[in-house]
Amino acid sequence: MALNRDGTIGYHPWLDFSTKNRDQMIRKLLRKVFTRNAKKPTPALTPACIPVDQHGIHREQVSHAACKVCAVLQEHGHAAYIVGGAVRDLLIGHTPKDHDVATSATPEEIRALFRRARIIGRRFKIVHVMSGPETIEVSTFRASHEAETDRHGRVLRDNTYGSQAEDASRRDFTVNALYYDPATETILDYHHGVADLRQKTLRMIGEPRARYREDPVRMLRAVRLAAKLGLVIDPAARTPIREMAILLENVPTARLFDETLKLLLSGNAVRCLTQLREEGLHHGLLPLLDIVLEQSVGERFVRLVLENTDERVRADKSVSPGFLFAALLWPEVLQCWKANQANGMASQLALFEAMDQALDTQASRLAITRRIAGDIKEIWAMQARFDKRSGQAPYRLIEQPRFRAAWDFLHLRAAAGGVPQEIPDWWDRFAHATHDERKELLRMAPADGSVLARKRRRRRKPAALPGDSSTIVA
Ligand code: ATP
Ligand code: MG
Repeated sequence: MALNRDGTIGYHPWLDFSTKNRDQMIRKLLRKVFTRNAKKPTPALTPACIPVDQHGIHREQVSHAACKVCAVLQEHGHAAYIVGGAVRDLLIGHTPKDHDVATSATPEEIRALFRRARIIGRRFKIVHVMSGPETIEVSTFRASHEAETDRHGRVLRDNTYGSQAEDASRRDFTVNALYYDPATETILDYHHGVADLRQKTLRMIGEPRARYREDPVRMLRAVRLAAKLGLVIDPAARTPIREMAILLENVPTARLFDETLKLLLSGNAVRCLTQLREEGLHHGLLPLLDIVLEQSVGERFVRLVLENTDERVRADKSVSPGFLFAALLWPEVLQCWKANQANGMASQLALFEAMDQALDTQASRLAITRRIAGDIKEIWAMQARFDKRSGQAPYRLIEQPRFRAAWDFLHLRAAAGGVPQEIPDWWDRFAHATHDERKELLRMAPADGSVLARKRRRRRKPAALPGDSSTIVA
């Protein structure tokens, strides 16, 4: 019995000391305490200030443009730091891909201070400051509270400006919340990111489940960054991924496309994709990853493509997204192409149908841009034409602007055992030969199905499309 708030005497569970009730109460209390903590990670207000002799990053190692942007902002009374991936990468001896600056100045204040600057972004308003060939992304310190979310808790917009401590807390991983001041060469570390980096741990700031709900793409970022930096995802951040993977379905397809592209062009695509499979992050989410990781058809080819891409990225060579997607989706196209032919479709028509089928499947989840889709189709369409080594067709083919990419593609197919090596070799010789040598090469080209196809074509109307897939097996 107890005194109720309204003064009446009544039963109160908190004052019932029976063992069963006490256990229930303790459980309830624990749940309350933990859920409250989970919702609101308390921002660390005083960061560790790490001097240069401890972290070793001198301003000469940092992008000159980023240092200049910080200096201009600081001269005008604003706080300004290089933040995020660049600081993290420099600490582990990697060359940063880009430099981001975080500042107390608002986007309008930032834009007013630089001649070549423009405000961009719908989700986050940020400023691009152009300095020589470099573009520095400058963002205002933000707080994560009061953000507009969808019904799953995904943050739609968070343009609420905040303190530097709040800005650090809204970042994803502790290693990404490091602020480097080029003027003093010190690092401000709010969440023990430097220690985590030394211990090779990727740790989420705040409660991982809540942070994934706010932005499911963080799950993909966890996998990509861990693979790229050679870090182990902290179990607290790793465990929920499998059960929360489904949330990626609510992410706009354009954002998924950007993140998938980052992952594939990270220089660690093989490692990233292997880890994605381990975390259960691929299944049913991105048809592209399903295809790449799950089917055995074309596995050798896809692996070769990814290894080849990783090598190119690491050697600082360019990789065209069109080429990459064309390659990853090729086994799918090939399967459909064969099935369509088996259903009586002419070779090239069957291929075009298969191309549309493969791209349509992707379009539901991945917003492949129109330009990239165009590149992909060109590369695919040319594969059928490599079979035709007679008449004027080879002369026309080598004049195509995308001939080189299509030939590279053919070469990879041969390396994976999909087409005889003799075919890309012949085309290589043909492309580099003199006029007379080309005639000879055409005369020597092995008779393939195209002769038969031509005869058949003459009899049948309308004309069947060029190319014969008799030699194409993968
Ligand atoms: P990289 O550029 O090597 O791909 P990065 O960590 O720099 O990795 P960016 O996309 O350039 O990635 O983001 C810059 C910084 O912005 C990050 O370091 C992190 O602090 C913050 N950030 C990026 N994406 C998110 C996110 N989804 N949630 C919270 N913070 C993020
Ligand atoms: Mg970056």
